Amino acid sequence: MIGTTRYPHVFSPLDLGFTRLKNRILMGSMHTGLEEAENGYARMAEYFAERARGGVGMIITGGIAPNPEAGVGGKLSTPAEAEQHRTVTRAVHAADADVKIVMQILHTGPLAGTPDCVAPSAVKSRIGRFTPMALDEDGIEKQIADFVNCAVLAQQAGYDGVEIIGSAGYLLSTFLVEKTNLRTDRWGGSWPNRMRFPVEVLRRVREAVGPRFILIFRIAAMDMLDGGLAWDEIVELAQAIEAAGANIISTHFCWHEAPVPTIATMVPRAAFAGVTGQLRKVVGVPVITSNRINMPAVAEAVLARGDADLVSMARPMLADPQIVLKALQGREDEINTCIACNQACLDHTFGGRLQVSCLVNPRACNETLLNYLPTASPKRIAVVGAGPAGLAYATVAAQRGHRVTLIDAGPEIGGQFNLAKRIPGKEEFHETLRYYRRMIELHGITLRLNTRADAALLQAEGFDDVVVATGIAPRTPDLPGINHPKVLSYIDVILGRKPVGQRVAIMGAGGIGFDVAELVTHQGTSAALDIAVFAREWGIDFEGHPRGGVTGVTPQVAKSDRHVTLLQRKADALGKTLGRTTGWTHRLTLNRRGVQMVGGVEYLGIDDAGLHTRVNGEPRLFEVDTVIVCAGQTPLRSLFDDLQKAGVKASLVGGAFEAAELDAKRAIDQASRLAAEV
Ligand code: FAD
Ligand code: NAP
Ligand code: SF4
Repeated sequence: MIGTTRYPHVFSPLDLGFTRLKNRILMGSMHTGLEEAENGYARMAEYFAERARGGVGMIITGGIAPNPEAGVGGKLSTPAEAEQHRTVTRAVHAADADVKIVMQILHTGPLAGTPDCVAPSAVKSRIGRFTPMALDEDGIEKQIADFVNCAVLAQQAGYDGVEIIGSAGYLLSTFLVEKTNLRTDRWGGSWPNRMRFPVEVLRRVREAVGPRFILIFRIAAMDMLDGGLAWDEIVELAQAIEAAGANIISTHFCWHEAPVPTIATMVPRAAFAGVTGQLRKVVGVPVITSNRINMPAVAEAVLARGDADLVSMARPMLADPQIVLKALQGREDEINTCIACNQACLDHTFGGRLQVSCLVNPRACNETLLNYLPTASPKRIAVVGAGPAGLAYATVAAQRGHRVTLIDAGPEIGGQFNLAKRIPGKEEFHETLRYYRRMIELHGITLRLNTRADAALLQAEGFDDVVVATGIAPRTPDLPGINHPKVLSYIDVILGRKPVGQRVAIMGAGGIGFDVAELVTHQGTSAALDIAVFAREWGIDFEGHPRGGVTGVTPQVAKSDRHVTLLQRKADALGKTLGRTTGWTHRLTLNRRGVQMVGGVEYLGIDDAGLHTRVNGEPRLFEVDTVIVCAGQTPLRSLFDDLQKAGVKASLVGGAFEAAELDAKRAIDQASRLAAEV
């Protein structure tokens, strides 16, 4: 197999003594919400089985609670619940008997979101909903017994092992850290006492499940807390965990409440693997690394450097269930790469309302509901517009056997993704375009670039179906002076077509307004491409290992030479519409660069003096050289209207269908679903 030579480290098996992992890539734990969904375990079974067929060595399930107070959707504390889990383990082992499936036991402690949540002390987390109840001695014993019961039931349900999560601000980790453990009994105070609970949980689970069951402990190798764990403590904990019977130590970075991004798209690939490498030197069991490892070559480099024994890919497995198989078969250019946007995965998890899926792969977590089956009656289909909506439609339809012609007015595919990819921190968007370029070749889609389609052209060619994916037009507010030379569209600015002055006002603070502010205040190398720059900008010391990795380190973000003001009409705080798990990073970065944010603005006009406004009723002039308009978008439907008039049947997708609240997630999802039906 090609992959065994191109990725020799990835494809070398790992011997655990009593069992063997067939390669070094595992699917990391992610909460998907399937546990709570209708028919959830059957859906989960197919979701994991598809990844097992896709070549991964080991799968770790989303977190499963050992008791009700642990506060997770899925639970395993009774034999009846074990029966549900058996659906999952059977499906994975039937898909590939060589793939291991390990259940994560997750007790969220003070983050449980229920009033009866528990913790070592009654300390409310910055991101928790309730102040937890402090456990007494009996309560602690009960929690340990519940972990043991859960692990034993997991073994009976056919899992190959369990992972116990001891990081992220969840129960076990709150025993470790002084600010969340205020106890003075044998479970708190000194470091050996604070370490006791996680070690005891692990020791007793090992005792109960015997030696031939994979036991993984997830440790915060850097908790990113000011005053968090010292490196010596992390090392001691890892060694104690090994002595208590763990087969594998998995490294995790950051508590959820820490203000440092660790998985967003602006984080460099494999940024944290070096920390795992340092821990690997002081323990005898294999270690797992994770975070922003989204392509096989990155995994191979991490393993070859000796930074880890195993690489965890979580979101990349949502984006492409076959990522490992494609690496093995030398089909890397067919990998649908995770762009770390969080838009359909973590934003949905933490939003609590929507089913987790993936922006680039709407089938993720919908494996039983959305399938791209071969068509019995192939059609000739024209897709006009090669933005995300048109690309997704064309790919799915062609994969199903339709004959697709994809037409775009521009010189390259991608639509607005060609703007997005130019924003520092969004470099991963290039991967999506590479994927679609390959899909066009692979599925024999006829691509016509530099071709503006009109009704006459489409009618003349007599297609069976026409899909209009022509996207949007930027909205131009109707304002005195809107045609003044100092007014630029975001497209001109992003493409570098027009010079931007030193004093800038940005009208509109949606996703594009924020991205443009990032672009015009950015200096030097993108932090996403350089771990040292990233560490400097977020105040992380990867070498010196201060407490938490961050104590005493001040983030150093260069103030921008430009004076930039970001404006919106709404009186709300700016950036509220940005991604739930990533918006704060953009707000913080722009604040650190000195960008002013002003809400409650009424735009009055633009002239040589600048942008005239009323802010909360008071007149205010922004004396600027450049006004950049990022005021939303309207659907571009003239082609569709012309087709209607000409009596040609056509359907609309993406921005052309609806521009309000459009993003690539909706565009790709809508287009894929329509193409699955045609
Ligand atoms: P478009 O991408 O607009 O594509 C339409 C295509 O149709 C274009 O290529 C155009 O040339 C072509 N076309 C139009 N008329 C014709 C014609 N008559 N004949 C032939 N071709 C025609 N979304 C996210 O989800 N996450 C992000 O992080 C994100 N970041 C962004 C950053 C920036 C700077 C920008 C500008 C957008 C960003 N978006 C993001 C939004 C996302 O790119 C859009 O939602 C998405 O591109 C919409 O897809 P679409 O296919 O409907 O339209
Ligand atoms: P948007 O998020 O809808 O924001 C448009 C902005 O323009 C708002 O601040 C709005 O706020 C303002 N506005 C609306 N009408 C206006 C008018 N007539 N005059 C002046 N201002 C007006 O749209 P967008 O920024 O253009 O982004 C387009 C889509 O791409 C969005 O759906 C977004 O989700 C997606 N995107 C996502 C990301 C991401 O990182 N996830 C990044 C970029 C883009 P007020 O009405 O309060 O002024
Ligand atoms: Fe990756 Fe975005 Fe898909 Fe989540 S939604 S798996 S971050 S591409």
